[in-house]
Amino acid sequence: MNIILFGPPGAGKGTQSKYLIKKLNAFQISTGDLLREEINKNSDIGKAIINDMNDGKFVTDDIVNKLIENLVFDPQKKNKLIFDGYPRSLKQAKNLEVLLKNSNQNIDLILYLNVNKEIILKRLEKRKIIENRSDDDADTIIRRYDIYMETTQPVLNFYSKNPNFREIDGSLEIDEITRKIDTFINV
Ligand code: AMP
Repeated sequence: MNIILFGPPGAGKGTQSKYLIKKLNAFQISTGDLLREEINKNSDIGKAIINDMNDGKFVTDDIVNKLIENLVFDPQKKNKLIFDGYPRSLKQAKNLEVLLKNSNQNIDLILYLNVNKEIILKRLEKRKIIENRSDDDADTIIRRYDIYMETTQPVLNFYSKNPNFREIDGSLEIDEITRKIDTFINV
């Protein structure tokens, strides 16, 4: 199965993708993790994105599209892809359609974890303490949430028409969300 986890920062995409990876013996494609890796390596991409990432702004479509390309075409990962944090723009969603088509794959499930701003704020303030992420301070959290909601609205409209689209209340406890996801993946 190829699955897209969609929802604002702090909705629980990372946690649920870790569950899905184990359960389906699949591979997580987290563009946030891939971008943070580039920053840690201090690569050219890392240098180009560090300010935008720290400000909670989106990285350009070209950069993220390039980062995921080889992973989608990796034969070992074929039909075992869990997208976490990608696509976040219509251009990325269209790019993914093309990549999947060219590698003979489909999206089997689009999970939208829907959570409101107050809950996200509380969760990400906690995560800041645990993970010490530089983009998890309160102002940046609010900015990232607002940017996410605004920018991803067209992506949500695009995917909500897909018959494989499922919405889940992301304010539920982790286990409850996992149980709901289980009902959709019937393996
Ligand atoms: P995340 O770990 O998914 O919350 O992403 C952290 C940050 O990485 C975001 O606030 C963006 O700056 C950047 N980022 C991650 N994925 C994408 C994407 N698909 N498109 C653009 N920027 C992204």
